[in-house]
Amino acid sequence: MLFHLPARYEDRTQLKPLGELQAGHEVMIQGTVELSEVRYGRRRMLLTRISDGTGFLTLRFFHFSAAQQRSLCRGTIIRCFGETRRSGPDLEIVHPEYQIIKPESSAIIEQTLTPVYPTTEGLHQLSLRRYTQQAINLLAQQADRLPELLDTPVCRNMKLPLLAESLQYIHRPPRNANIHQLQLGMHPMQRRLALEELLSHHLSIRQLRKRGKKNNHSLSIKDANEITADFINELPFALTNAQQRVIGEIFNDLGRDTAMQRLLQGDVGSGKTVIAALAALATIRAGYQVALMAPTELLAEQHLQTLSKWLTPLNINISLLSGKLPAAKKRAILCAIASGEIQLVVGTHALFQDDSQFMQLGLIIVDEQHRFGVHQRLALREKGRHGNFIPHQLIMTATPIPRTLAMTAYADLDTSIIDELPPGRQPVETAVMSDAKRDEIIQAVKKACQDGRQVYWVCTLIEESEALQCQAAEATAELLSEALDGLGIGLIHGRMKALEKASVMKDFRSGNIDILVATTVIEVGVDVPNASLMIIENAERLGLAQLHQLRGRVGRGSTASACVLMYQGKLSANGRARLAAMRETSDGFEIARRDLELRGPGELLGTRQTGLLHLRIADLARDADLLEKVPRLATEIEAISPQLVPLLIRRWAGDVLEYGDV
Ligand code: ADP
Ligand code: MG
Repeated sequence: MLFHLPARYEDRTQLKPLGELQAGHEVMIQGTVELSEVRYGRRRMLLTRISDGTGFLTLRFFHFSAAQQRSLCRGTIIRCFGETRRSGPDLEIVHPEYQIIKPESSAIIEQTLTPVYPTTEGLHQLSLRRYTQQAINLLAQQADRLPELLDTPVCRNMKLPLLAESLQYIHRPPRNANIHQLQLGMHPMQRRLALEELLSHHLSIRQLRKRGKKNNHSLSIKDANEITADFINELPFALTNAQQRVIGEIFNDLGRDTAMQRLLQGDVGSGKTVIAALAALATIRAGYQVALMAPTELLAEQHLQTLSKWLTPLNINISLLSGKLPAAKKRAILCAIASGEIQLVVGTHALFQDDSQFMQLGLIIVDEQHRFGVHQRLALREKGRHGNFIPHQLIMTATPIPRTLAMTAYADLDTSIIDELPPGRQPVETAVMSDAKRDEIIQAVKKACQDGRQVYWVCTLIEESEALQCQAAEATAELLSEALDGLGIGLIHGRMKALEKASVMKDFRSGNIDILVATTVIEVGVDVPNASLMIIENAERLGLAQLHQLRGRVGRGSTASACVLMYQGKLSANGRARLAAMRETSDGFEIARRDLELRGPGELLGTRQTGLLHLRIADLARDADLLEKVPRLATEIEAISPQLVPLLIRRWAGDVLEYGDV
């Protein structure tokens, strides 16, 4: 109860003189009824005008009983609480809470700000207030039931309020408390709790890391460089400096006998797949299996092709495990995985469902899954456990991770960054155009195809409905076939069968299809270097990160590429700013920064929705400055008061130490 904190507050501690009211504030007021009358406008309503000697105010009721109307007669004193709003030259409150005051009684005014708790149907605010009051009283009598845990020199230096004091204050702030600060969650009493919560999460992640290292060991490959040299020599390109550095970091991890837990960040097109192939090859040649997990079937299929092209000549046995395989085929593959015959298996989540058993899994690679939480990573690793042996893990993402998240949700990972694109890439020329120019755009597409280029035409819709998105794509494909007779037009969307999708992608890759009309299924990872023009419909409705991902599908070869962002109707100021950002920069980190600015942190990674962290009080954006203090506090507590660590973790993070399910 004590940790169920108010969502906001009402100030019922003082009566505001009517003459001092402004629009848009929640206030307690008291006055004498001057006049009550029923008006018949578009709706029937009761208007009651009250005064208190300093001014007037109108109360407006749309729903009222006859008894109510009678009780609000001239001369009655009433006390109201509600939000003022402007109505012509005057102020009014619509449907205030009110009580009639008897002249002889001086009805009590609240002594503290009134908390308003997050609640659920059937649970009344008054009940919540009663329960929290009981809990506060109990805390006052039995303080030792909730021990103070921030009791170290650094904490004392920070002059933090005590836990009990903070809780008492937050549930029942005194009448003179800074209500504005409280509403924002920025009051020192609230910040103290947020700090403790962030500290607890940080400590729990440190514990996880330690525990992972202590009793576990992993495969140690000392000669990864030598055993992969032939592969590097055969590649049609030279690795960039950034790729070489990152490979060095990964091989270094693989050389130890503790499990690698590494996050590889690299912008779209920076060449993460070849890194994955190298790590996989080293592991396989050391005698172990590798699993590569992709977010979509489409991407899994593509990885299979790329990796087969590179690794099959080296006699590596690669296979796709898809949820959609026919049962018999799937059984055969599962068998070959269990016997160790398949050395590299590529797939989606299906890879780690219960019926999959590896002979000896040495490395798990997860592609484009930045939304994976700590628990999911650990659960995945557990799948590969053999006694004390756990596999290495490499997580790859093109989505830049903001620092606050890196320090919390990703604190269990080491990080490598590919900060360089392969040479010869030409920046994607980006244009913003109204869909009124569709015909012009179609002509440009035709010209591009005649010059031997290939085109993506991406259909997006605001509705989350995949069905509608697919319909739009079908309609567009038809329209383009009519307008562009003689060109090969393909269609790909999420409702097609995996095999159909694969065959369309194959035709596009081989050049049989000139224009691929697609939904956002092609968003992540798809790699067809000859495609050099992309049209994105309804671009104004997509987030910058998503646009960046989509646009990253072109500009992969050496021809100059272009991207047309189409919008419908008139652009809002924010929409214009966002599309302008896309035109001005192609740097993923810069785009993430602007996205953060224009849409706020919740949107960027969907942290709230996916529950990367279950923060109850702290807010990663608002409390970023507190986060900076956390590592130092954690180190201090571990050093001088280690007995507090489990207490802190249990209080805030609860079961975070238990592995969840993937
Ligand atoms: P991403 O990091 O987005 O997954 P990919 O691994 O798909 O990028 O690589 C994009 C393209 O760049 C692929 O066609 C790949 O073969 C190519 N590529 C990767 N590394 C290099 C390099 N060092 N030089 C030239 N081309 C490269
Ligand atoms: Mg990729």
